[in-house]
Amino acid sequence: MKVMVPVKRVVDSNVKIRIRADGSGIETANVKMAINPFDEIAVEEATRLREAGVATEVVAVSCGAETSQDVLRTAMAIGADRSVLLGTAAELQPLAVARLLAAMVEREQPALVILGKQAIDDDCNQTGQMLAALLGWPQATSASRIRVEGDSAVVTREVDGGTETVRLTLPAIVTADLRLNEPRFVSLPNLMKSKKKPLEVIDASTLNVDLAPTWITLKVSEPPVRKPGILLHSAADLVTRLRDEARAI
Ligand code: AMP
Repeated sequence: MKVMVPVKRVVDSNVKIRIRADGSGIETANVKMAINPFDEIAVEEATRLREAGVATEVVAVSCGAETSQDVLRTAMAIGADRSVLLGTAAELQPLAVARLLAAMVEREQPALVILGKQAIDDDCNQTGQMLAALLGWPQATSASRIRVEGDSAVVTREVDGGTETVRLTLPAIVTADLRLNEPRFVSLPNLMKSKKKPLEVIDASTLNVDLAPTWITLKVSEPPVRKPGILLHSAADLVTRLRDEARAI
């Protein structure tokens, strides 16, 4: 069984986000970039499936600029066997990514695609769902457990107020939530070794996929600054404060 894992290059989660001076988006020039954390979890899960003998091959796929090769190397250092970059300079929105991934699914014929539940830069939480719709495949989003049983996957999903377990007939789409696993440390030797694994670059324009954006960002701005909290020393202080503030309204 082949598992495909789409991985996105995003601003490193430890970096404080800055907005471009012209309000057109997030500053990415000279900023540390990394594999999207949910995608790291997805690669770890696929790797564990291969280590358990359930999967036979793990293929990581990224759509974007040449620079995305670094996150594919990270995916292969975790355990992906090979990777494919669908190269394009276009700014990709989830529908365009889902279309590119659907073209890759046609080519690779995986039994399972594990994506991150969302990219931490756009927080869209859409690509997995759109890919499932384009392919007509069953999907389970926000997975905290995946078990493959014969020709189906039993997936526990994080839902409001608890969990839900569903059975999907393979081939299927699953998106990874935070509690699915704790990804292994990416060691320098493994990162070096990953350089020997195959990384294929395909020009996305050769796939005949419509990459046109479906929305325009008008402006990106900082959230309003929150007032600092105050420390009260007793319940009586609190009552006085609430009474006085209520009077002032
Ligand atoms: P989103 O819908 O943008 O929140 O992204 C959800 C998931 O789709 C991510 O966690 C990735 O697994 C996948 N994805 C999004 N953008 C890309 C991309 N440019 N290349 C590869 N995978 C992507």
